[in-house]
Amino acid sequence: VASYADRIEKVDPKVDAFLLKCLDDAKEHAKKIDSEGKTESSILSGIPYALKDNICTKDIKTTAASKMLYNFVPPYSADVYERLQNLDSIMLGKVNMDEFAMGSSTENSAFKTTKNPWDLSTVPGGSSGGSAVAVAADMAAYALGSDTGGSIRQPASLCGVVGLKPTYGLVSRYGLIAFASSLDQIGTFTKDVEDAAIVLNAIAGHDAKDSTSLNISKKDYTVNLKRGAKGLKVGILKNFNTEGVQEEVKTAMDESIAAFKDAGAEIVEVDFRYFKQALAAYYIVACAEASSNLARYDGVRYGYRAKEYTDYIDMYYKTRSEGFGSEVKRRIMLGTYALSSGYYDAYYKKGMQVRTVIINEYNKIFEQCDVLMTPTSATTAFKIGEKVDDPLQMYMSDTFTVPINIAGIPAVSIPTKLDQKGLPIGIQIVGPALGEEKILQAAWALE
Ligand code: GLN
Repeated sequence: VASYADRIEKVDPKVDAFLLKCLDDAKEHAKKIDSEGKTESSILSGIPYALKDNICTKDIKTTAASKMLYNFVPPYSADVYERLQNLDSIMLGKVNMDEFAMGSSTENSAFKTTKNPWDLSTVPGGSSGGSAVAVAADMAAYALGSDTGGSIRQPASLCGVVGLKPTYGLVSRYGLIAFASSLDQIGTFTKDVEDAAIVLNAIAGHDAKDSTSLNISKKDYTVNLKRGAKGLKVGILKNFNTEGVQEEVKTAMDESIAAFKDAGAEIVEVDFRYFKQALAAYYIVACAEASSNLARYDGVRYGYRAKEYTDYIDMYYKTRSEGFGSEVKRRIMLGTYALSSGYYDAYYKKGMQVRTVIINEYNKIFEQCDVLMTPTSATTAFKIGEKVDDPLQMYMSDTFTVPINIAGIPAVSIPTKLDQKGLPIGIQIVGPALGEEKILQAAWALE
């Protein structure tokens, strides 16, 4: 803990990953574990980590990087945080993100822009940019983030770490500040695949407080991890439209295919034609759910409240106008529109229908292969400011990650090589629902 704390003091001023440092409490926690002789009571005992700031921590400020929650101190803890507390893992602090997890670069934070440690003029990806940077810059042994459309895998890819989005429902969302409830899922950032399995062991499991939590028996994800790729059927996309995909990302894909072949895997060509439709459906469904989830920020019960107003309608109006950033407002408007009478059938219902088509497509794919391999992101880290004024460009950076959330299936991004600018390239390995063991096994073999 002391060495991570020193590292945070030294490095964080350069990369701006932490919104709140809890270093004194972390040191206290460490001392307590030592004095009680609990150092080896669990594999994560004494291991320091960082938490995305949309995961509620009782009595510790949780802002979702929004002015709306700038002073919010939750009266309860997220299920994942409680599990880690019970294992005596040590929370070092809360890390930056795009406001309410809406974005792909962490530039939508109301508080600060986090920088990519590989090149400080580039973005770390998003929305869990702070979590990715905390791990990439050795400021935490691991971190948790949330992934609604790629927010774990894309920043992991851009920062050269391992990012795992589990199957929808495997990890409790209780205490995760909601963005789009049918897509949100908490997952891990780690240095390697084995650590991802270890942290997943700690956070997965049924929780009666989350009605979408899966009630299945617990697995140990480390048991079959090191079986290798022999006999594994790895799907790759045929007729895959590589337009907009950086040359070096294509090369990294080719090299990963070769590596799998060398390791005894069988490469199978599969078809998935719906990237464009998935992206469109995602932005309808995600915005619709966001507009509903964010209706609770009214300035009455908690969070920000406008200073001056005439009556409660005016207070509500001013609070939301001043409290939300522009990306959040854009999504509330899009979502409200898609859900309004007369447009619901044309947009929301269509989006849900596309969702079913995509789920069926993946079911067909996983009849032909064990795991599917794609790039995580079409490009490596882009420059800070490059896409902020072009939301459509920003949305396009989620092409490879979004369909996975639409289908609720698991995927992991692992670092491969660096591009010519020295920036990391990530490869995504996708599995069928509850296929975490298989994707981690494949990822470990490739690592
Ligand atoms: N970048 C996507 C978005 O802006 C995904 C965000 C996420 O996964 N939370 O919606």
